[in-house]
Amino acid sequence: MRYLILSDMHANWDAFEVVLRRTRRKRFDAALVLGDLVGYGGAPNQVVEAVRRLGPKVYTVRGNHDKVVAGIDNGSNFNQTALTAAQWTTGRLTPKNLRYVRELPRGPLGVEEGMAICHGSPLDEDTYVFSDVDAYEIFSQFTVPVVFFGHTHIPSIFSLEGRRLRVAPLKGDGGTIHLHPEGRYLLNPGSIGQPRDRDPRASYMIYDSRRRVVRWYRVPYPVGEAQKKIREAGLPGSLADRLAVGT
Ligand code: ZN
Repeated sequence: MRYLILSDMHANWDAFEVVLRRTRRKRFDAALVLGDLVGYGGAPNQVVEAVRRLGPKVYTVRGNHDKVVAGIDNGSNFNQTALTAAQWTTGRLTPKNLRYVRELPRGPLGVEEGMAICHGSPLDEDTYVFSDVDAYEIFSQFTVPVVFFGHTHIPSIFSLEGRRLRVAPLKGDGGTIHLHPEGRYLLNPGSIGQPRDRDPRASYMIYDSRRRVVRWYRVPYPVGEAQKKIREAGLPGSLADRLAVGT
C-alpha cells in the first residue's frame, strides 16, 4: 500500500493546496491525516473540505487544536494566541465542517497490520515526542512497529534497530528512508501549515508499506497569501509572522 501522510495543516490552505497539487499525480492508496486540521490559520473551511474530499481512502485522527475548536477540550492549557485562534475557528467553521472536526477519532488508530497513526504519542494523543527518552518509553510500551505521528511540527525519525536507538531530524529538501523489517519506527512528517524547524516550506511524507520505503518532501508555497488570510481574519499577527521563518 502507498500512503500519503499529512499532518498539522492548521487551516493553512495556501500550503495544503500546493501539497495536494504536487501529490495529485503520485498514486497512493490512502491518505493518513495526523490531526490539527485547524487552528492558527485563516482558512479552516477550505482545509477541512479538502480533507473530506481526500481519496480514495482517508484515515484521520484528531489533534489538540481540533479538540479545542470542537469544544471537546476547553483549551485551558493553550496560550492566549492559540486560544484566540481556536475560538475564531469555532465561529468560522460551517456546521457541517465543525461536526466533521468534532467527530475526528482519537489516536492511536491502526491502519494496517504493524502500522498506526496518532497526533502526539501513541500512549497519549496530547503528549509531544521530542527526545530519545520519549521514544524509548513508547518503544517499550507500544508494540506496533511503524507509527506515524505529528504534533511537534518537526520532521523527524526515531528508530530502534536491534538495541540501537536513534533520533534524527529530517533536514534539507527531502529524502528516502528504508525501514528495516525488524526495526521499530516513530516517524513525523512535519507540518504542512506551520513548520517549526526554521524551514518555512510545507512538509509531508509518502510511505510504501510493501517496500518499507518512506519518502519525505519539502515544498515552497505562497507564504504571503497565507499571512494575508491570517491578517484579514483579524487573528494575532504573530501567527502570520512565524510562517515566514518556520518557527
Ligand atoms: Zn499542531
